[in-house]
Amino acid sequence: MARRKKIYEGKAKILYEGPEPGTIVQYFKDDATAFNAEKKDVIDGKGVLNNRLSEFFMTGLNQIGVPTHFIRRLNMREQLVRSCEIIPLEVIVRNYAAGSLSKRLGIAEGTQLPRPIVEYCYKDDSLGDPLVTEEHIAAFGWASQQDMDDVLSLALRVNDFMSGVMLAVGIRLVDFKIEIGRVYEGDFQRLIVADEISPDSCRLWDIETGQKLDKDVFRRDLGSLTDAYSEVARRLGVLPKSNVSKPTLIN
Ligand code: 5GP
Repeated sequence: MARRKKIYEGKAKILYEGPEPGTIVQYFKDDATAFNAEKKDVIDGKGVLNNRLSEFFMTGLNQIGVPTHFIRRLNMREQLVRSCEIIPLEVIVRNYAAGSLSKRLGIAEGTQLPRPIVEYCYKDDSLGDPLVTEEHIAAFGWASQQDMDDVLSLALRVNDFMSGVMLAVGIRLVDFKIEIGRVYEGDFQRLIVADEISPDSCRLWDIETGQKLDKDVFRRDLGSLTDAYSEVARRLGVLPKSNVSKPTLIN
């Protein structure tokens, strides 16, 4: 069998050339990293869960008309996505104070924000993904003003969708990070939601108990990450019933 061409390997995913032009196979690894890869581990089943969960969220977004890179899931760990040119920004939306916002501004974790706050970080691991303003983005040509209008609108639509979906299963969407890519269609370019949407890139708290069901479980040593992600998948009906407590680890 021909070997696939690896395009890129990141901390949590590997990208391979897809079967048709303009497609990419996105492989979800079990590797977990935090604090710019200072803390590392391999968490059995994390890749399987994130592949499923990202499929679930991206499919829902596609269905309500929010364009994403997701085409279809291929197997337990891989999905076929549209190839796109990633804008070098992490787009963060916050509904409640937590993490770096709480640290930076001294606002207690869990404080409801007066409205969703959108922040941008420049995607560069060697710099620790620093917070930037729209002035930096425009001055350094990372995205145009039109792009940024579209990025903001996509980010807020993803927030509305994700907040609603999570609320329906008793989970508070505290904050999340997305990445946005450009695709070219003839003379036009369009922005789409890319990368992944999973508990690796969101803060998810149980509404009743406040229990953390996201990557903070790993960052702060709060217990089993697989159990937390499985709980999110179970509530959303994403895992088949027989796999509820232990996802199948094929592949
Ligand atoms: P904070 O800025 O508070 O550390 O993170 C805000 C939100 O964005 C959290 O939900 C966090 O998981 C997500 N986030 C920030 N940076 C990254 C990153 O480099 N990778 C991933 N997967 N998520 C991130």
